Amino acid sequence: MLFLKKNKTRQHTKVDWKIKHNCLDLIIECAKSIYPNEFGALLRVDDQQKSTISEIILLPGTVQGETHTIFKLHMMPIDFNIVGTVHSHPSPFPIPSDADLELFRKHGRVHIIIANPYNYFSWKAYDYNGDEIKIEVV
Ligand SMILES: [Zn+2]
Repeated sequence: MLFLKKNKTRQHTKVDWKIKHNCLDLIIECAKSIYPNEFGALLRVDDQQKSTISEIILLPGTVQGETHTIFKLHMMPIDFNIVGTVHSHPSPFPIPSDADLELFRKHGRVHIIIANPYNYFSWKAYDYNGDEIKIEVV
């Protein structure tokens, strides 16, 4: 009995992230419309389902440059449902740069990078360490 209980708690420490279909569609649309520049936004979870990313929040003053998105994180609203960031890469590689890794470590628990050509197969998600994680599309 005790053994079973222990096992159960261990399973619950890991968050199984999910993202809503229409939220991913919006990310794709934004990335496409801002191309060849980079797009950046914050990820927000549902009020009820705290592991389901349901909307993106565009930060006022976020600079979408040709080289890199600069998040003005002091503009970040106080909102405990914000769990991480999303940004696009004009290149075909959704791989975090050194600057991305720094951002990941400091802000949030889940981060998405979507690369060119911006579709369901050209994005990856990472934890704060920059390790790739899986997000289920729901
Ligand atoms: Zn990047």
